[in-house]
Amino acid sequence: MFTDQLLAGRRILVTGGGTGLGKAMAARFLQLGAEVHICGRRKGVCDETATELMDQYGGKVMTYGVDIRDAQAVDHMIETIWATGPLTDLINNAAGNFISRTEELSPRGFDAVANIVMHGTFYVTHAVGRRWIEGGHRGNVVSITTTWVRNGSPYVVPSAMSKSAIHAMTMSLATEWGRYGIRLNTIAPGEIPTEGMSKRIKPGDEAGARTVKMNPMGRVGTMEELQNVAVFLISGGCDWISGETIAMDGAQGLAMGGNFYQLRDWSNDDWEQAKASIKAQNEKDRAKRG
Ligand code: NAP
Repeated sequence: MFTDQLLAGRRILVTGGGTGLGKAMAARFLQLGAEVHICGRRKGVCDETATELMDQYGGKVMTYGVDIRDAQAVDHMIETIWATGPLTDLINNAAGNFISRTEELSPRGFDAVANIVMHGTFYVTHAVGRRWIEGGHRGNVVSITTTWVRNGSPYVVPSAMSKSAIHAMTMSLATEWGRYGIRLNTIAPGEIPTEGMSKRIKPGDEAGARTVKMNPMGRVGTMEELQNVAVFLISGGCDWISGETIAMDGAQGLAMGGNFYQLRDWSNDDWEQAKASIKAQNEKDRAKRG
């Protein structure tokens, strides 16, 4: 679909690039000739990914063990990257999410999502954007959101609120920073099964069987489809697209509103089981943060 070396000379930061969708986008950018930078709280996971991708595609993948909720740590990472030259593109992919009945959420549970998704995404975008403006560089920001930014979503309210904030940031900065040649767009994927997200938002249905049943096109999304949209948006093929959201969900958002309304049928036992599964996944991930 894209010519070899389409992204040669590009320096791209993918937040949360050690796993899941971020890893898939990082892989495709590297394959197309970009230098790739990935960050996550689990530096070891990022390092393993970097080794795997460089073995497969060659090129250069740099890793950073950074929690994007920490504005100072974010600024330090961006300063470190800038020491060898500016980024050309930023992919805001890192996020946290889990399903919960909203009345059972604690303030801490709300903050766990909002601090990563809303605050963290702003910190990274701001640290990169202000350097682009200071240095007179053009740049692309692509953020991964969800279709619920259009209609909200039950049972994932902190995520729906925070992704909507990214949506608002994208439209706002596309207009404020367009004069500097800085573009911001978002991709709103439907379900693409990944370990991190699926275990927390689809416990018991990690392969997406429920989505397959409900989706107008009768399937979940693929990594390759996401890779292709992301490359298209930063490719330079149509730089007049800015402030936009591309939904990539087989029209599920239009048909069903989102993914979680059916959870109103869950029993207390279903919710207890989901909580136990989310807790186990959190503990597994935390053990790798060091
Ligand atoms: P994932 O594998 O859990 O990816 C999330 C990544 O974000 C992880 O690498 C995680 O690394 C990183 N991260 C989380 N908190 C962080 C923090 N505070 N600082 C730095 N990095 C952090 O899940 P995914 O499915 O690939 O999701 C990727 C993106 O796609 C998310 O924005 C998600 O909302 C969006 N999305 C996914 C789907 C789907 O079906 N998979 C659908 C719609 C939208 P550490 O844990 O090491 O920090």
